[in-house]
Amino acid sequence: MDIVHIASEFAPIAKVGGLGDAVSGLAKACAKLGHNVTVILPKYDTIKEPLSSLEEDIKLILIDSEHREFDRGQIYGEEDDILRFLTFNKLASAYLEKRSFDVIHLHDWHAAGCTLFLKNSPRTIFTIHNLMYQGECLQGELTKMGVKTNTTNLMELAILNCDAFTTVSPTYAKEILTPEYGCGLEKTLIENREKLTGILNGIDTDTWNPETDSHLQENYTKETWTTGKRANKEAAQKHFHLPIDSTCPLVTAITRLVPQKGPDLILYGIEKTLELGGQFVLLGSCADEEMRASFEAFEDNRSVALYFEFNEPLSHLLYGASDMFLMPSIFEPCGLSQMIALQYGSVPLVRKTGGLKDTIEDGVNGFTFDTPDNASITSLMERAFKAYKAKQWNSFIETGMSTNLSWETSAQKYLKLYQT
Ligand code: ADP
Repeated sequence: MDIVHIASEFAPIAKVGGLGDAVSGLAKACAKLGHNVTVILPKYDTIKEPLSSLEEDIKLILIDSEHREFDRGQIYGEEDDILRFLTFNKLASAYLEKRSFDVIHLHDWHAAGCTLFLKNSPRTIFTIHNLMYQGECLQGELTKMGVKTNTTNLMELAILNCDAFTTVSPTYAKEILTPEYGCGLEKTLIENREKLTGILNGIDTDTWNPETDSHLQENYTKETWTTGKRANKEAAQKHFHLPIDSTCPLVTAITRLVPQKGPDLILYGIEKTLELGGQFVLLGSCADEEMRASFEAFEDNRSVALYFEFNEPLSHLLYGASDMFLMPSIFEPCGLSQMIALQYGSVPLVRKTGGLKDTIEDGVNGFTFDTPDNASITSLMERAFKAYKAKQWNSFIETGMSTNLSWETSAQKYLKLYQT
């Protein structure tokens, strides 16, 4: 099949979060299964050439625009994001009109606008990676782009106009049909639910593999994790200026620090970790000064390291070094971080929502909780620290590391949807 993906992110060359990983994971898996895969992205100035780390079997098209909308030093966060991505959609659609594909796969609101511009489109699939960001336009913005429509919400437009749409876990596919998780779109979602499927993301096991990961101090497998993780823990403790102690539980959170990820619960998780005698490293990308300031109380604590940045190499080391991975999301469409943590033998401590519920089983490969409050964090961490000291810990790690999280199974499900 000739498949084309249109997206705002593609790992590793243009990545802010899980969207970038998901698009490249799916594209690579379909290419490996013998399909012709093209990915269309904006030509951001942040993309460093040459694109040496790209797979040769994926064709990458970078869309340049006359007014340099993508030369802003960042992917999102500009006042004119709606116009920037509508421009991208218009140019990408013009490119698509001149070629022939079997299926067009649009990702999130940044690609949803293509359904406004494409006239004779082949089978069109739309994926909701995160319903929170919908691309709500002003009429003036749409007029400026030369389109007329009464629906000003780009995500809603794609849901209405596509042949089928998906979201990134079975549980999230159910949750978004409710007012609690539907972000105001639940009525449209319910009306179109026969077009909706939940397909769990995989992870890119070439990138996320403790056996080959070059960012680790020492590589390891599920047979050699004890010594491997110890060496990585020591390297991380050195790097983050924490006391060197292989027996001390090292807890980490690697996340965008935004309300979705439960920053207050992470904050309390740090407090609880200290109380239980552990160490905590927070690697949190954060544009919000106030959010950073809320962590100030821990700044001088010797057992805590706070890094407010996006740092891919350090994230790898931390997955390899940590014993536990805290992810108390308020909502989580799929979540890649907990799956990466499983693969690296860092036991996930997560809230039972969306993809976290579909991947982490309490007492088997991690620990889960329901109600997002401090009392839940207390019991979660107390249970995890207790298990850490018991023999049973090994089975958490070995079960997690044995899980098949590769994209192949999910890619097969997408391919079926492409063909229907
Ligand atoms: P989301 O897409 O909502 O941010 P996911 O869990 O699906 O959450 O994916 C997050 C991805 O981004 C993972 O690969 C994670 O390791 C990475 N990531 C998040 N924050 C950081 C950070 N501060 N530094 C490095 N990598 C990060």
